[in-house]
Amino acid sequence: MTQTTGGSAPHLRRRGAGDAAKRNRPPNSRNQAEPLSSGTVVPEMPQSGPENPPTERTLVVLKPDAVQRGIAAEILARFERRGLRIAALRLLKVERAFAERHYEIHKGKFFHEDLVRTISASPVVAAVLEGPNAIAVVRAMVGATRPHEAAPGTIRGDYALVGLRNLVHASDAPETASSEIALWFPDGVIEYRGDLERWVSDEGALS
Ligand code: ADP
Repeated sequence: MTQTTGGSAPHLRRRGAGDAAKRNRPPNSRNQAEPLSSGTVVPEMPQSGPENPPTERTLVVLKPDAVQRGIAAEILARFERRGLRIAALRLLKVERAFAERHYEIHKGKFFHEDLVRTISASPVVAAVLEGPNAIAVVRAMVGATRPHEAAPGTIRGDYALVGLRNLVHASDAPETASSEIALWFPDGVIEYRGDLERWVSDEGALS
C-alpha cells in the first residue's frame, strides 16, 4: 500500500499514530498553536460560527470503477477545483476483511455482499479532503446513491448509471468521517496550510 503524501518541507508535518486523539477532533477545534518537533508551529485555525463554517475533513474513496475507467484523477480534480484541499492520498487494493470493516454498517442488507466484493475487486484511490463544510459539500457534489436519481452536475449524475458502479464513497457525518479516516489512514494525514485557503474560506475575506 502506498501513501503518496510525504513531504519534508518545514511547514509540513506527518502525524503519527500517537496523534490519534488530535487527529480525531475537527481541525478547527485546535485553539492553541501547537509547537512541532521541527520548531515550527501549525497556524491557529479560525473559530467556527455562523459566519465562519467549520473546517472539516472527510474521506473520499474513488471506487474500482473510477480507477478502471481512468477518471479517478478527474473526479479528484473536481473536489480540488471546488476549493477543497487534499490532506492525504493513497492508491490501494483493499482486502475482503478491510472492505467488510468499511461497510460494517451495511451488514445484513441485501446488497452487502456485492458491495464488499465490488470494492475489493480492483484498486481504489482513497483521499482525505479538507475545507469549510467539507462533509456536506462533498456529499452534494457526489450526488444521490442511485445514479439515475443523481442530478446532472453531480459526479454520479454526470458519470454513473447504476448503484454498484456509482464511483465514489464519501463520509456522511462527522463521526463517520473521523472513524473512516482513522481506518483508511492509520498513519495520519498531512497538516499544512496554503495561501489559497484564504481565498476560498471566510478567513481573511475582509482583509
Ligand atoms: P452512499 O454511497 O450514497 O453513501 P450508502 O452508504 O447508503 O450510499 O450505500 C453504500 C453503497 O452501497 C452505495 O454507494 C452503493 O454502491 C451501494 N448501495 C446502496 N444501496 C443499494 C441498493 N439498493 N442496491 C445496490 N447497491 C446499493
